[in-house]
Parts: sequence; C-alpha cells; structure tokens
Amino acid sequence: MKKKRILILSIVITTIIIICVVFTLNHSNSKYLSIKLNGKEKIELEYGEDYKDQGAKASYKKENLTKKIKIKTNINLKKIGEYYYKYTIKYKNITKSIKRTVIIKDTTKPEIKLNGDERINIYLDNDYNELGASATDNYDGDLTDKIKVEGSVDNKKQGEYIIKYSVADSSNNENTISRTVNVIKKEEKKVEQKSSKSTTSKGFKIEQINGIYYINGILIANKSYSLPSNYNPGGLLSEFQTNFDKMQSDAASEGINLKIISGFRSYNTQKNIYNNYVARDGQELADRYSARAGHSEHQSGLAADINSLDQSWEYTNEGKWLNQNCYKYGFIIRYVKGKESITGYMFEPWHIRYVGNDLANKLYNNGNWITLEEYFGIDSVYN
Ligand SMILES: [Zn+2]
Repeated sequence: MKKKRILILSIVITTIIIICVVFTLNHSNSKYLSIKLNGKEKIELEYGEDYKDQGAKASYKKENLTKKIKIKTNINLKKIGEYYYKYTIKYKNITKSIKRTVIIKDTTKPEIKLNGDERINIYLDNDYNELGASATDNYDGDLTDKIKVEGSVDNKKQGEYIIKYSVADSSNNENTISRTVNVIKKEEKKVEQKSSKSTTSKGFKIEQINGIYYINGILIANKSYSLPSNYNPGGLLSEFQTNFDKMQSDAASEGINLKIISGFRSYNTQKNIYNNYVARDGQELADRYSARAGHSEHQSGLAADINSLDQSWEYTNEGKWLNQNCYKYGFIIRYVKGKESITGYMFEPWHIRYVGNDLANKLYNNGNWITLEEYFGIDSVYN
C-alpha cells in the first residue's frame, strides 16, 4: 500500500518537473523568435491611391522564417475606413504576432461646374432662369443633388448679383463656386416704321395682313419682319406637312431617313428657348442661331428642323439628300452657308422652310442657293 503511494507521488513529481523543464526551455527559446514590420506601423492613404503592403520579417536565431509568416487582413481599397494587417509566426510551439494599421481617407474636394456661363446679363424685368451646376466626387460620385444654391436676383433692380453653389462630400470636403448675374437696362432704339414701306428694294410688294408680313404672297419671318405674338396656327400647316410626308417617303425608298425634330413653336415657347440660350451663351451669340420671340419661322408653321442640329450633318447622306432634293417638294434650305450676314443666322443645314415649288425651284438655283432676303431684296436685322 505504501509502495503504491510512493509510485503515484513520484509519477506526479516527474510530470511536474517535465512540464517545468519544457516550459522553461520554451520560454528561453521564445526570445530567439523575432517578428518585425517592414515599413511603418500606421499608414494613411488617400482614397484611390494604390497600396502594396511591405509585409514583415521573422527569424529564429540565424534562421530566416519570413516565408513562414501568415498574413491576415481586412483591407478594402474601395472603401474609406481603418483596416489592419496581422502577421503571425509559429515556430517550435511558439507563436508571435504583430499588427499594422492602414487608414484610407478621402481629403479630395468634390468638383463642381456651372451649367451655363459664369457671367450672365439679363435685362430689367426679364426672368432669371437658374441653370444650376453639377458636381462629382472621387469617392461619392454624382453629388449634383446635394448642391446648395445661395443668393437671388432682383430683376426689378439694376446691379450685380452673386449666386453661390456649394457641395460637400461624405468626408466633409467642401467646394464652392459662384456665378455673377448682371441685371442691366435695355438700350432704347428707335423703331423703324415698316408698315410705311410698301415695296422691297427689288420692287416686290410688301403686304401686312392681320399683322403678318407677306412679300409676293410669301410669309416672311426674319429679324426685320416679325409675327404677331398672338399668331398661333397650333402646328405645322397642311401644305408643309403634306409635302414633307411625300418627301419623307420618297427619301425612305432611297434609304434616306428624314424626321422632324422640331416643327411648330409658339411665341411663348420660342421666348423661353431664346431666353435660355441668352442665359447660356449671352445675347450676342444667341442672336446668331436663335430667333427672338415673334421672329422665328417655327412660329409660322411653315418651317422645321430635320434630323440634327449639328452643322456637320450637311456631310451625311441625309444632309446631302435634303440639300439636293428638298426644292422638288417646295422646301428651301433657309439659312445657307456663308450667308449669315444676309439671313441673320448661322448656317443651318437642317432648317427647311416651305415656300412652294415655283419659288423653291428658283431659290435652289442648281444647288447654289439664293436666300429669301437676296431674292426679295430685304434685310434681316433687329431694329
Ligand atoms: Zn429651325
């Protein structure tokens, strides 16, 4: 009985000794195992910047254990935030770890751009149309909806008004731009009495019926001759529509696709269009391509824009076909190339006007277009 006790006791003691020896050995071995970071412990990155982790190195006495390092990370370069890299080395039952912190931040301001000009002139009593701005951010993307607009324009009072546009991204980086709106007085100009003139410089008879000017029976709407604000046929006139339909189907049979992109426009529609262009480009430039209300042929119901509002459209098959064939259906290219000083408008290969076959044929002039202004001997200038 006593012998058995001694045996158990000696087993217990031996076990304790073994544990102690192993522990001590391990503990003393632990100091030989080393793991160190390459590079800094804390790294800050700008969102969008590339990142290549430099890793860590490990050794035991003179043995290089770098290849045995296990790396764990939660990094996501597509999201701002704080991330870690954990490097662990296990060797001879010893485990050691170190960590690195990587912070991804956004300190880049959103970009903000004005729609329309930085300086806009409007006449007293004319409405200021807020054209707004657009914003994008390297991190948040489109922030246009978040733009705050401050300031207002008093169109009853001459002066300079500043409109401020500001926007902040989700990291609170802010950007601000501004626009200057000048409310100015319209110059008074003497109005020429047109009704007193009864013939043109080429001897054509000018008639005014219900406020509409006709020369030799042809309705005239240009910068010199305006339509009454209450003149509203409500759509394209039947002579336009019928002949256009015929031209369109003949063109289609030759593989040419013609479509009206803007036909009739009322006095008020034209007023809005023109005002928007003035706000965008200023009056001087807008007057070269857009008519003031009452001066647009689109209000007559006898004109339309075909396919494209790009001058290079003249070189497409459609543009060439229209230029060479529209006269056969009673249409003319109204604003001819190189005749801006005569018609008052830049070249518009897309704008056709119905004048009937006889006159269209004369104006076509074997491809060397004559304008209505040249043919009748009239001006196209604002009073
Ligand atoms: Zn047009």
